[in-house]
Amino acid sequence: MGALRLPFNEMTPCLLYADDDMFFIKPEVQQLQALQIALTVFKQVSGLSVNLSKSELMVSMGTHATQQQLTNVLGCRMATLPFTYLGLPLSNCGLMDLSVFNQALLIKWFWQWRKPQRTLCKSLFQQHIASNGLPDSPIFTLAISKSLPYCQFFFSHKIGNGKKIQLWNDNWEGQILSTLLPDLYTHALDTQITLIEVSQISNLRSLFRSISSDMANQELVQLQFILSDLVLNPQIEDDIKWKWNVSGQYTVQAGYRAMKDGPRILNGSQRIWKLQAPPRMKVFGWLALNNRLLTIDNLNKRGWPLVNRCVLCRVQGESIKHMLDECNFSKSVYSMLANTVPAMVPNLSNNTPPTQMLTDVSISKIQRETMLIMQFIIWRERCARTFSERGL
Ligand SMILES: [Zn+2]
Repeated sequence: MGALRLPFNEMTPCLLYADDDMFFIKPEVQQLQALQIALTVFKQVSGLSVNLSKSELMVSMGTHATQQQLTNVLGCRMATLPFTYLGLPLSNCGLMDLSVFNQALLIKWFWQWRKPQRTLCKSLFQQHIASNGLPDSPIFTLAISKSLPYCQFFFSHKIGNGKKIQLWNDNWEGQILSTLLPDLYTHALDTQITLIEVSQISNLRSLFRSISSDMANQELVQLQFILSDLVLNPQIEDDIKWKWNVSGQYTVQAGYRAMKDGPRILNGSQRIWKLQAPPRMKVFGWLALNNRLLTIDNLNKRGWPLVNRCVLCRVQGESIKHMLDECNFSKSVYSMLANTVPAMVPNLSNNTPPTQMLTDVSISKIQRETMLIMQFIIWRERCARTFSERGL
């Protein structure tokens, strides 16, 4: 986003936002011709041409005939109200949340930087871009700080050479590690380390200041587990995808809507974060729903040769689904609770698996919170039994 003063008389500055530009000029043929010359020169210099068939001219005064005449000078379309800029109605500026709009604009920088395609804009700004992909100036970094959490949720990355994707802050392979491993994250020495940098490190512990808590140590094991799946491809650049539309392309309009409607569009396991519960319980719920807890079946898949038997019922094999939905031990815990505090527990007889209850909005929030806490307690019991049996 920036302002550029063109060398024409009485031509007011134009609003340039990456590939979406707006010019404010007097409604005179001469001025429009000057603009056309400016665009032609720009094309000669940069190789980029303005697609006039996609452009619109909004004339705020004069008869329809004059408006048509002016439109013909540029060969673009005549705009009608409500006039939109970047897909959002400008005529209702009063209704538009400008700070959110601004954030949606800024996020486009993030998006363009992370896309592998080289653009003129990117080359020009390359030297002013910080490691997180945003213009390295206080104006940008201050304004964007509120938006970054949204970036994390709304974008997913496709891993290539790992040079742009940050280990902790970016959403890759469906996970954001700073959220997934919160205790360990507080011990990280470099919170902006990229995947390629991590892949070159032989001892993971060197990424952290001395790890003291049990939780952080458990999370370190989880990190090893996650990184053992990481494959970088040096031939391909990392890519980024906007998660909330079919095309996967970010637009300012989509970004604006997502931030305005954010809580509503968070679906599935994301709803876990809205529950009132200690963060580590929410992380647990998220891991369970995404099949990322270190149950024996998951360890077997990683090639760890452990006998797969549930330590709670000692009858069936252990999986997240078994442990939290099907195990007789867990079922008896749920029904005992339902008998003690019926109002706090969802209806157990309607066949909804208890793990799915966490994100089922037809169940009251307090009941979902109770289920999360119960499942966390079952998991801790399972861990205690596993560690004491195996002498871990
Ligand atoms: Zn069991």
